Amino acid sequence: MKGEANQPVEGAPAPLAETAQAAQALLDQLLDAALQLRAARRGRVPQADKLTIRLRVEGVLRFWKEVPLDLHPQVVGRLKSLAKLDVAERRRPQEGRFTQATKSGVREYRVATAPMLDGEKVVVRVLHQDLSEITLKNIGYSEPNARAYSDLLSKPHGLILHCGPTGSGKTSALYAAINHLKQNWRNIQTIEDPVEGRLSGINQAQVNGELGQSCATFLRSFLLQDCDVIMVDELRDPESAQLAFQAAHSGHLVLASLQAKSAVAAFSRLHELRVPQFFIHASLVGLVGHRMTRRVCKACRRVFQPSAQIQRECNLLPHHQLYQAVGCTQCGKLGYRGRIGLQEVIAIDPQLREAIQAGALEDELYALAAQSGMISLFTDGVAKCVAGYTTVEEVYQTIMAGD
Ligand SMILES: [Zn+2]
Repeated sequence: MKGEANQPVEGAPAPLAETAQAAQALLDQLLDAALQLRAARRGRVPQADKLTIRLRVEGVLRFWKEVPLDLHPQVVGRLKSLAKLDVAERRRPQEGRFTQATKSGVREYRVATAPMLDGEKVVVRVLHQDLSEITLKNIGYSEPNARAYSDLLSKPHGLILHCGPTGSGKTSALYAAINHLKQNWRNIQTIEDPVEGRLSGINQAQVNGELGQSCATFLRSFLLQDCDVIMVDELRDPESAQLAFQAAHSGHLVLASLQAKSAVAAFSRLHELRVPQFFIHASLVGLVGHRMTRRVCKACRRVFQPSAQIQRECNLLPHHQLYQAVGCTQCGKLGYRGRIGLQEVIAIDPQLREAIQAGALEDELYALAAQSGMISLFTDGVAKCVAGYTTVEEVYQTIMAGD
């Protein structure tokens, strides 16, 4: 850690060279802290009367540092030049990337700028480098869910939709699926926005609106090519959604993410995206609902005996114990460290397919899925509480947050 940026600058502004040096030191510290705190999502550099720097660590935005405002143009300028953006352009949002060697290897960062009322805001996102490490197990699929989901992946064609709000783990789930399929399938193509990192042996396409490379353009070209599996992160417009179903209908296995608060909420979202009902009941083979919870810190978690009310609500057995978050130096006094996903997997069986065709309501479809053995997000969450991965408060909060 270099010290310059910690020195308060009082009175007259520091000479330019000194400011540039301090800005560079600050940036080094910021990228270092982002990696150390595992700020895998994003570090933010907004401003008010001072330059406030925040890090998003495991989904929670945390204050990192406040520094004199005169460092702002230097830090922003340096980030923009690293990402090969137009440094003079301050009125239009820009996006770019850069890589930097660190102690743990080469890391890739994505930089996004946005003009705000007070000046330019910059969001730096640390991108995953090695996506091949993401597996169904390490993102939290329980054994029964992994089995149910593997069955879906073994289908020769059809569409599997991953649903949830922003930051619920949909993209990681798609990467885990690709890693699972990689051994058995020869030709897998992805369409991503943004490409979060590299997947060896997979053709990855980056959506770029400015260059006319939209999700729909890629889907149309993939339909003409000889590929077995298409992954789309995420279906945002009617044209892409309809093309994804068309691809599934014409013999491809399509894995896609969709912004919808739950698995069954996908139906109203698909309706909004004007996907013909015929496509849905003919080609949809599965739905996965996602949420992301924080992992309780193993170094300081405390065991407790749940109250009768919690036992009832969570359907616990008398011998089940739960854990509370406490906080220690290892978890930065947060009580949580790392994250784990919650999932609910719905396989579209003949009964559900018939109900979809008949236009059944979401509640009815959910009830039918439960009858067929779906484990709800809440039940999956409670099982993870009993296993000591997270807390009941966290599960309630994450599931409510998406409603
Ligand atoms: Zn701790």
